[in-house]
Amino acid sequence: MKNKNYNRNPEGHNQWILRSNEEIQKIIDKHPTWTKKDFRGEEKKNSIKILTRKETERKGLIFKKSVYRKKFKNNKLQCSICKKLKTLNEFPNDIHGWKNKKRSNCSECDIDRNFNYLNNMNSFEKKIFYKKIYKDLNDQQLTNKRKRQKKYYYETFKNN
Ligand SMILES: [Zn+2]
Repeated sequence: MKNKNYNRNPEGHNQWILRSNEEIQKIIDKHPTWTKKDFRGEEKKNSIKILTRKETERKGLIFKKSVYRKKFKNNKLQCSICKKLKTLNEFPNDIHGWKNKKRSNCSECDIDRNFNYLNNMNSFEKKIFYKKIYKDLNDQQLTNKRKRQKKYYYETFKNN
């Protein structure tokens, strides 16, 4: 009997798209010296296509040439500020960040950094800063902001 799985991809769908980033990262970590091209079978180190181009271009994966590679261990990345090893989802996404759109400092440190940044502003600079932020909020975000402020005032003044 013929194995049904050999009749693969009759409609031209990309079956590999179902692999998760975690699965792909595991494959990448088996060959820490390989580049994206190596995984696609385009270089001397490997001639078998292990990952598709789409997979190698996915955001959040750590390859050899990534600026993160040497700071990446057991699926954890070292924060450039607190030096702790943390999982990737503990780092903020940022279009101005590194190549894979992650910042090199963890979310916790990023919040501290932003706090200090605000703290060092004078009141006029702060006013402009917040005006800019609130201008870009959508209705849902504005509602959430009002809720947060209400809660803040309630908790700040309830004991007075
Ligand atoms: Zn940190």
